[in-house]
Amino acid sequence: MKNLNSETESLEDERKFIEGQERLLKIRMEKIRHKVAVISGKGGVGKSTVTVNLAVAFAMNGYRVGILDADIHGPSIPKMLGLSGNRLEVGPPGVFPAIGPFGIRVVSIDFLLPNEESPVIWRGPLKMAAIRQFLSDIVWGELDLLLIDLPPGTGDEPLSIAQLLPDMDGVIIVTIPSEVSQLVVKKAVNFARTLGLPIVGIIENMSGFLCPNCGARIDIFQSGGGERMAKEMSVPFLGRIPVDPRVCEDSDRGKPFIVECKDSPSSKAFMEIFKKIEDFLNQKEKR
Ligand code: ADP
Repeated sequence: MKNLNSETESLEDERKFIEGQERLLKIRMEKIRHKVAVISGKGGVGKSTVTVNLAVAFAMNGYRVGILDADIHGPSIPKMLGLSGNRLEVGPPGVFPAIGPFGIRVVSIDFLLPNEESPVIWRGPLKMAAIRQFLSDIVWGELDLLLIDLPPGTGDEPLSIAQLLPDMDGVIIVTIPSEVSQLVVKKAVNFARTLGLPIVGIIENMSGFLCPNCGARIDIFQSGGGERMAKEMSVPFLGRIPVDPRVCEDSDRGKPFIVECKDSPSSKAFMEIFKKIEDFLNQKEKR
């Protein structure tokens, strides 16, 4: 009987502890005007690339921006922003984000790992507890926009992380225009609906390649699938970003592509998408 009582007490303590963390997380996040998650049905479609370049587009236009790199199995945002190897500063109020280009505040699980090659091997409940703790410790300060790069896919893991984050404004879905990937877009749309979040729109990345010599367009992975899917699922389509080898080179060098190659068709596509997202957030604020 005694054992049963102490077990109940410790469960009660744990519940109170978790509630405390969730309250703290909510208070810290109240200072952020807009929170938008970036998701993809599968990995490697450019979710992190899109997150980084959109963050830079907002920051260049005067917004105070943060990125939460919650892609725990492939945290790549720090590398893309030249912040690899950074360590987060800890003070009495909590953990402070690293500061990237244009003052973008960046927090990544990558900053907690001993080196870039360390894989994250946490087991389910332990992993969520660590992530909840980590998120509730971050001192974001005042922000206009926080972009959250969730783990790829639409399974339990991205869902659990998204559910930890209070009051999100919506979800951006990144896809590539191949048939296989279209099937997963449906899952991504359903993912957002499960969370009860509006879909800001679908972005079709790696959408055709424009020959730098003759300007001809080559549809490497077909094209138009994202837009078709958006129509079919009655969600907004935000735009197509063509393949540009410099996107990859700049990511590897830690330089934001839309700054380095601002006249390229891909950068122009990013800027048009930025405007649509800005409109979405402005509309939301008016409501
Ligand atoms: P994810 O976050 O979905 O796993 P990443 O953003 O890491 O994908 O992108 C995967 C790879 O594709 C990276 O090497 C990135 O530089 C490259 N990439 C992404 N978008 C483009 C693009 N439009 N043109 C060329 N390369 C791209």
